[in-house]
Amino acid sequence: MFANGLPYLAIPGPSVMPDRVMRAMHRAAPNIYTGELHDITHGLIPDLKAVAGTRHDVAIYIGNGHGVWEAALSNVIGEGDTVLVLATGRFCVGWGEMADGLGANVETIDFGMSNAVDPAQVEAALKADNEGKIKAVMTVLVDTSTGVLNDIKGIRGAIDAAGHDALFMVDCIASMGCDEFHMDDWGVDIAVAASQKGLMTPPGIGFVWFNGKADAVRGDMKRVSRYWDWRPRTSAEEYYQYFNGTAPTHHIYGLREALDMIKEEGLSNVWARHEGLARAIWAAADAWGADGPLEINVAEPSQRSRAVTSVKLGEGQGDALREWCENKMGVTLGIGLGRAPASAYFRLGHMGHVNGHMVMGFLGTIDAGLKALGIPHGKGALEAASAVLADLAGADTSRANTDKPVEKCCG
Ligand SMILES: *Cc1c(COP(=O)(O)O)cnc(C)c1O
Repeated sequence: MFANGLPYLAIPGPSVMPDRVMRAMHRAAPNIYTGELHDITHGLIPDLKAVAGTRHDVAIYIGNGHGVWEAALSNVIGEGDTVLVLATGRFCVGWGEMADGLGANVETIDFGMSNAVDPAQVEAALKADNEGKIKAVMTVLVDTSTGVLNDIKGIRGAIDAAGHDALFMVDCIASMGCDEFHMDDWGVDIAVAASQKGLMTPPGIGFVWFNGKADAVRGDMKRVSRYWDWRPRTSAEEYYQYFNGTAPTHHIYGLREALDMIKEEGLSNVWARHEGLARAIWAAADAWGADGPLEINVAEPSQRSRAVTSVKLGEGQGDALREWCENKMGVTLGIGLGRAPASAYFRLGHMGHVNGHMVMGFLGTIDAGLKALGIPHGKGALEAASAVLADLAGADTSRANTDKPVEKCCG
């Protein structure tokens, strides 16, 4: 009934594509042999490194998140190697399954679906690995199925405290450019991300960042499949021109524009925007949940992503709400991926090109849906969310970014 108008995909990827990115991609096929496309590709490299907080290397792949999962593993994990997966939802388990597909022995510590990795358990598991069999520790910055945010620095501390030499591999696909991340400072050896979430570009290209320690492990591999090998991909002479095949021409233009947008806003401001919008969402959910079944999947705010939120209702209510919001209001919410029962959950993507009025819009839509469907809920959710945004934005009426370092409410 009220769905005609601008549709809004509020799911955790693909995220909202900025008009600027779409306009940058709307062009004839460019010359792939010489000229602008090569210059732009060279220019992407330092900006991709800056977004990840690394001075080491990055390789670009044509592929989605699953593609870079396999790319990263293929360079360092072979048949018979052992990896330790720290699972906080469906996605880290999926990355582990990919390692299994490459012949690795996959050991998993499961932290459940609502809690972050406990570094103490990681330390104990690594200390118990007397023979040093574990070649890599794999986890996610954010698990998109649960909305759990992991303490990457804390897990690094656990690896160090155990005196273990394993590579530390982190999936940042959900939240690169949304949740704070510092690859080098936090001691991450390999990070992966894809274009279609915080990086605001259509699905189709992905990135593997790796340091010298990871590349030394790559050097000791018996063989690495040619397409996934990251070494030729960091050769400016060869790869930026030849891309192991045809360059992802239009994605390069789109990503250039998206990275320009991040640079113009300033990465710390981008993080602060996600932080503030997430707090508004949590305030609304707390108000709804004060009287009824609704609750945020992750109870502890310091363990919540600022890019994706998983919300639990009664069985069937998540599905009903999603259908109502899409068909009556034009807002598409994410499914209860990997949950049982999936129909009790919905997920909100608030990653990338998202601002205050968009968040107030989908919160208002959910509020109306709860009322229309007769799902019990507390009052005052929109009031609570708007109070958060009013407080954080303050009385200054200018658009200017404050460029202050992000201040997190909760660790
Ligand atoms: C989206 C996502 C993936 C998978 O990415 P695809 O592009 O769908 O293959 C993997 N891990 C995380 C954390 C994600 O958010």
